[in-house]
Amino acid sequence: MSHQRQRVHATSCPHCGGRALIRTSKRVTPLVRHIYYRCENGECGHDFVAQLGILYSLRPSSCPDPTLKLPLLTAMTLQAVAAVPSITSEPPEFAAMLQELHDQEAVPKAA
Ligand SMILES: [Zn+2]
Repeated sequence: MSHQRQRVHATSCPHCGGRALIRTSKRVTPLVRHIYYRCENGECGHDFVAQLGILYSLRPSSCPDPTLKLPLLTAMTLQAVAAVPSITSEPPEFAAMLQELHDQEAVPKAA
């Protein structure tokens, strides 16, 4: 039995707390990727999308893309950012994407 060491990127299902695995991901911008998860709990079956965003640089790139606006943070400014809770709130485009997915569910509304 030979198992290759696999990197399994999992997270917790927000509904049942079970393990959810990545099904696919989609690059939205150079700094944002949407990650599609499926809960492994057969009784749950929740599919959901998470967002991976690159927030700032800790060390500058040696081959920078001049179109990217990525702040360079020092350890001191990192502490300041961590102290501001609003920086981790959902960006508006993520909320809009979630609404779009919700609308695609085509759940008939009760009259
Ligand atoms: Zn679940």
